[in-house]
This record gives sequence, structure tokens and C-alpha cells, in this order.
Amino acid sequence: MTQPAHAERAHALLSASGSSRWLNCTPSARLEEEFPDVETSYAREGTLAHEIAELKLRKYYTDSTMTKAEFNKLLKPLKENELYQLEMDKHTDSYLEFVKELTLGMKQTPFVAIEKRLDFSSYVPEGFGTGDCIIISGQSMYVIDLKYGKGVAVSAENNPQMKLYALGAMNAYGMLYDIQSIYSVVVQPRLSDDASIDVISKEDLLTWGEEVKRIADKAFKGEGEFVPGDHCKFCKAKAKCRARADQYTALDDFGRKEPELLDDKEIGAVLEKAQGLDNWIKSVKEYALKETLKGNEIPGWKAVNGRGSRSYVDIDKAFEYLQSQGIDGALLYERVPLTPPKLEKELSKKQFKELMEDTGYVVKSEGKPTLAPEGDRRKAISNVPDVSEDFK
Ligand code: SF4
Repeated sequence: MTQPAHAERAHALLSASGSSRWLNCTPSARLEEEFPDVETSYAREGTLAHEIAELKLRKYYTDSTMTKAEFNKLLKPLKENELYQLEMDKHTDSYLEFVKELTLGMKQTPFVAIEKRLDFSSYVPEGFGTGDCIIISGQSMYVIDLKYGKGVAVSAENNPQMKLYALGAMNAYGMLYDIQSIYSVVVQPRLSDDASIDVISKEDLLTWGEEVKRIADKAFKGEGEFVPGDHCKFCKAKAKCRARADQYTALDDFGRKEPELLDDKEIGAVLEKAQGLDNWIKSVKEYALKETLKGNEIPGWKAVNGRGSRSYVDIDKAFEYLQSQGIDGALLYERVPLTPPKLEKELSKKQFKELMEDTGYVVKSEGKPTLAPEGDRRKAISNVPDVSEDFK
């Protein structure tokens, strides 16, 4: 893949979507420039879902004269995309429904902008992004972002990407409307029927913007310390970054500690350091495989063929042949009931809840005890009997 043109790279350098990274690790954006852009199929799938969602929102809000035939004509090439799946229609419908419900509940006629370019360059050098949907009603502005991924749940709470979009939206509409409260809304229909919403006052948002300026200037120049953390997950340098490697190789320190056995405090510290270790090793392995396949040497390692699997060349013909040879057709197929998650995917979340959960046909059992960091939202459990229950 070729490098993007310089201007393009400069514009993309401090992106809103990458802000949790460059805000925490200021030199990361310049370091990432050394790596090519790789567009994953997930990203292309997300883009397609956004195009479908945009069309639906436009038809409802801004191009209400669009006929059904015109709408279908525009939708057709999107549906012909190899990444299109039926569920994309369902999820973009849920997104439209959410936005509709929001605006229908508004006392004052809302202003709606779809796929709006948002310029926040007065805070972040060359910073801009695209807001999926901006709604203004009275003194409130809603900055809505559709997330089509389902791998990571995205919260709107204190989300820097959303706040940068909000700054861009204030820049676009702050002079035209008396906006006092800004709502960040993340809609992730493949994960939840509910949106994640956070609200910030105009003053607090602008103060945050001023704080960001100093960090963004540093990030634009590639200055500051490398700071590894959760934000490394989508960094292009994640496999080769020394700071990230040091975070894990520093586990060796524990081997030098006295006495011979670690105490529980040290065990906690090992687990703390080891968080994200799997992810790091995975990214290093992916990098090394790519390099060895390119013919580059990674000392001590080589690329080999993985274990292959058998597959039918033509399943219909194969089964026809088997039956012609006296094999009972019933032997060739298995009828497996859908698991609850698969059934939920086939029905809607709402329908699944009504027909299966509310009726008691599907119940949720507790999972096996597992270790989680202290900040995890789940309640801590223990096998020690709760004596307070006896007194009750
Ligand atoms: S991998 Fe992490 S520490 Fe290294 S540059 Fe990227 S964000 Fe910074």
C-alpha cells in the first residue's frame, strides 16, 4: 500500500478517533507516520454501514422529497457491496429509530445536520472530523456517533473523540444558536439497544478545549514521553514500540526480588503489568509473520504453513455421489438448535427478550469465577459465607 499524500497525512495526523492515543502518548502520532495505513475489512464494513445509515437519515430528515424508488436506487449499489449483510439493514434501522425518537421528543423543532465536516483546528493543529449526525434544539446540541463495530463497547462518558467533534460542532453552530449543553451520544446497535450518552456544559467543553491545545501542539511536533496503556491497542507502532515492550519485559524485575516467593502485593503488581500482554504478543507475532513472509529475517523464527483443513469441492455433488453409493442421506446432515446469541441475532433484541427471556425460556446462569481488575463494573464475589446473612 502506498503512503498517502503529504497533505492528507498532515490532516489525518491528530484525528479525533485516535485522540485517546495522542492525548495520552504525545509522540505516538508522528511515530505512526512511519507505518503504512492498513484498512481492515472491519473498517470497510463500518464505512458501508455508515453510508447506508446516512442515506436513511437523509431520506427522513433532509431529503424528505426523495421517493422510495430514488431511495432504492441509491441503496442498491450499497447492498451489492461484498461486505453487505442483512443485519446491516436492521442495525442502521435501529440507529434511525433512535435518532427519530430523540427528535420526536423535542419541544422545539430541531436542526439536523448529517455527515457534517467538523473543524476543530483552533484547538488541534489541522484537526477535523466528520460528525455522523448533529442535532440542535433549544439550548441543547446532540453530537451523535454511530459505531458499527461490536468488538469493543464504546462509552460516550468523557470520550475525547466526542468532545473534539463537539468542539468542531460548536465552531460551526455556536454563533448561530445559543447552545449551552452538549450531549455526546454513541449509538452501537450491534451491542446494545441503548445509546451511551454524556453531557457537558459549553463552558466546561471550551475549558477542556483550551487544555487540549497544549497537548495537541506537543503531539503535532512529536514531542513528549511515550506512555503505554490501553490506548496502544490500535496504534500502528504497537508491535515495534519500545516503550510498550519495556512495559512487559519489565516483568523480569520480579525474578530478581527477594525473598524467593512473591507476596500477594507483588502478585497484584504482576497481574497489573501483565494486562494487555496477550494483545502485545499477538501484535508482535503478526508483525514477525508479515516480515518473514516478505522474506525478511526475524532471528530464530520462520513462516510455515499452518494446519490445513479439508473442505468439499462441491458439496451438492459430493452428497449426491455418497447417496448413489448407498449412504443414507439422513447421515449427512445435522440439525442443530440455534444458541441463544444466534437466535437473538436472527430475531431482534426486543423480540428475543419478549419471547424468550421474559417468558423464562432463556435464563442466564452465572459464569465461572474469573479474575478482573478492581475497576471492573461487576460486583466482587467470594466463597466465604456472608455471616450477616445468618443474622438476618
Ligand atoms: S504503542 Fe503505545 S506507547 Fe508506543 S507509541 Fe503507540 S500509543 Fe505510544
